[in-house]
Order: sequence, then C-alpha cells, then structure tokens
Amino acid sequence: MRLPDILQVVVASAQIDHGTEHRLPGTRTRPPRHLADLDPSARRAAAAELGGEPFRGDQLARHYFARLTDDPDEMTDLPAASRAALAAALLPRLLAAEREQSCDRGMTRKTLWRTFDGAYVESVLMRYPGRVTMCVSSQAGCGMACPFCATGQAGLTRNLSAAEIVAQVVAGARALARGEVPGGPGRVSNVVFMGMGEPLANYPQVMTALRRLTDPVPDGLGISQRSVTVSTVGLVPAIRRLTAQRPGVTLAVSLHAPDDGLRDELVPVNRRWKVAEVLGAAWEYAGATGRRVSVEYAMIKDVNDQPWRAEALASLLAGRRAHVNLIPLNPTPGSRWTASAPAATRDFAAALEARRIPVTVRDTRGRQIDGACGQLAAKNMPDDGRGVLSLAQPVPGR
Ligand code: SAH
Repeated sequence: MRLPDILQVVVASAQIDHGTEHRLPGTRTRPPRHLADLDPSARRAAAAELGGEPFRGDQLARHYFARLTDDPDEMTDLPAASRAALAAALLPRLLAAEREQSCDRGMTRKTLWRTFDGAYVESVLMRYPGRVTMCVSSQAGCGMACPFCATGQAGLTRNLSAAEIVAQVVAGARALARGEVPGGPGRVSNVVFMGMGEPLANYPQVMTALRRLTDPVPDGLGISQRSVTVSTVGLVPAIRRLTAQRPGVTLAVSLHAPDDGLRDELVPVNRRWKVAEVLGAAWEYAGATGRRVSVEYAMIKDVNDQPWRAEALASLLAGRRAHVNLIPLNPTPGSRWTASAPAATRDFAAALEARRIPVTVRDTRGRQIDGACGQLAAKNMPDDGRGVLSLAQPVPGR
C-alpha cells in the first residue's frame, strides 16, 4: 500500500527524531509521546519542561480523561497563548479513524484506526443493556500465529504505545458521552484486551495503559479494575510478572484444548509453555488476586469439541477459580475449520456444568462486520466497501 505523501514525511521525520534507543520492542518507529503515556508527576514535569506551570499537566489530563477532549479550542482554562502548543506536545492525535462499521442497530461498532506511521488496528464497541464493553488492540498484528485467528495470519507489525491503547477507549467513551451510540449517552464500563495482538507480549505498555484506564478520573478513565480483562495465549513468565504486580484485572487464558498434542497446533506458543504450566500460572494469579480466571475455548467442529475433551477440561479446572467461555469459532478467510454445531456446543457446556464448572457460551457480536473474536485483521482497508457505514470524512480522533 502506498502511504499518502504527508504520512511518509511524518514517518521519515519520526525516524530521524527518535532514533533507535527509544523504540518499543517490535517497533520500527516510536509513537509520539502523549499524556496518557505519563503518570501524574511525569505529566507535571512535562508541562514544566514545555515552559508552563506544572499544574497545566493536570489540567490537560482533566480535558483528556474527564472531558474526553484533546481540542485546544475547548481548553479555555489554559492561557490562550500556550494552549495549542501544550496540546500539540502532550495530546498529539495518535489514531485517525479510517473507517467505521456497525451492526446490531448501531449497538456494535468496529473502528479501523490508522496510526501515525501507517499501521492499522481495530477496536470494537459493544453496547449491552447496562454495560458497554470496548474490545481493544494491544499490538498492530500479532506474533503468536494461532492458525484459526485472522490477526495471527499476518504476523506482528509493532507494539502499540500505552497512549495508543488508551486512545481507543477514549474514542469510544467520547462517542458514548456525546450520545453518538444508540441508547442515549453512556460510558465505557468494561475493557477487554481481546482485539489484535498479544497483550502480555507488550507488557510495559499494557501495564501503563491499565493504569490509565483504571486510575480515578481525572488521572485516568476511572474504569473499575475488575471490569478490565487481559487475555493471553499463556506467556507464563509474563503471567507471573502480572501476579507479582497484582493489578486486580481479570485474566483470561486462551486455552482452546486441554491436551498438549492439540494445543501445540492451535496455540503454537504451547510448544514452549505447556497446558499444565499455563494453568499453574493462572491459578497463582487467581490465588493472589482472588479473581476467577476466564478460560477461553473456541469451539471448532470435530477438532476440540469432543465429549472426551470436555471431560479432560473439566478435570483440569475442577476445584479451581475458573470460568469457561466457549466461543463458537468465527470463520476466517481460507480457514479449514468451522464452528462446532450448536448441539455439540450445548453438550460440551453441559458436560462442564455437570462437573460444576461455571461456563457460558459467548455471543458472536460483530460477526457480520468481521468484528468478533479472532476476526480483527484490519483487512477492510480503504476501498473495500463491504458492509461499511460510510463516513463522509475520516472521523477525527477527537
Ligand atoms: N492474544 C490474546 C488476545 C486475542 S483475541 C489471546 O490469544 O488471548 C481474544 C480471543 O479470541 C482469544 O481467546 C482468541 O484465541 C480468540 N480467537 C481468535 N481467533 C478466533 C476465532 N477465529 N474464533 C473465535 N475465537 C477466536
């Protein structure tokens, strides 16, 4: 894809400006620094460095996290002379909405975002009675290569910065606050790291993002920790690190098979960390946080949905703080696999219930717009008009 010229200039200058030492791992270019990358004291220091009083950092945070704006014209409590400069330095626009698609009468909306360096990521807003969940991406692409997942097919482009992750949630919160989502004004109550990427492979940025999402307003978005779910393929050392830091968020483990033979194939990282090790680390997390671990299981017809595998899974989870989420496989282009028959899924769930394992079957929200689990591939790029709720203008990120 040819980037617009202006973007190429931006990319080139970013490469010159930042050099290699500042790169995020897996990152070719470093996203511009943003307020959401900084904790309150670093924000104040940054405001001072820019020639303002330190409390200007707090004011900017209030605009971004409480008022959900990054438009300097709305920041009338800042001196007119320095408003634009402060906003440009600390609230640069990181994501441009390239395309939006919606379904469920507007209650589900997927946004394709273009980053400053031309990478694409997607986020999905899902409104349910009484709650709104934002599904966010933590990386552009993914390096985990799970064969049934669309994101995994293209590999990893780069890690997102904390602020790029937070910006996806802020955009959803802003749309809700402004009443742009059917159902009246609302707020984001839940965040799931189930979009593109493996969050624990981008650990430091994801940890920073978690703090910004859950810090009380106006230091952050004030979302409750237990309403944030970090989903992982099972990177054991990172799960242990998370346990030590006890962020209080919900951990989800993408298990998909109770046996190493099959899991080696479905989740290639299993060749490194086996089922027993992954679950061992998950139970340590559950023990340290008191929170139930969510065990994700994509139901794939005749692959992992046999009654004996339900029994094997029940044996692994018996007596543990766990909840199983069965996700009917969402079809990805060219896949040799399909979703389990509803009856097979029901039987699988019943077998777990019979062993007193809590289980739910996940709905497939967003499936028709390729916005359901495992379908985010940022493939509906400009000019592929399928099911698109067209926008006259690219939606500004503000
Ligand atoms: N890398 C993280 C988060 C990614 S996606 C992880 O693997 O947990 C969130 C969930 O969607 C994961 O459980 C993932 O395995 C699942 N998933 C991926 N592709 C899917 C598909 N095609 N159908 C159903 N679920 C899928």
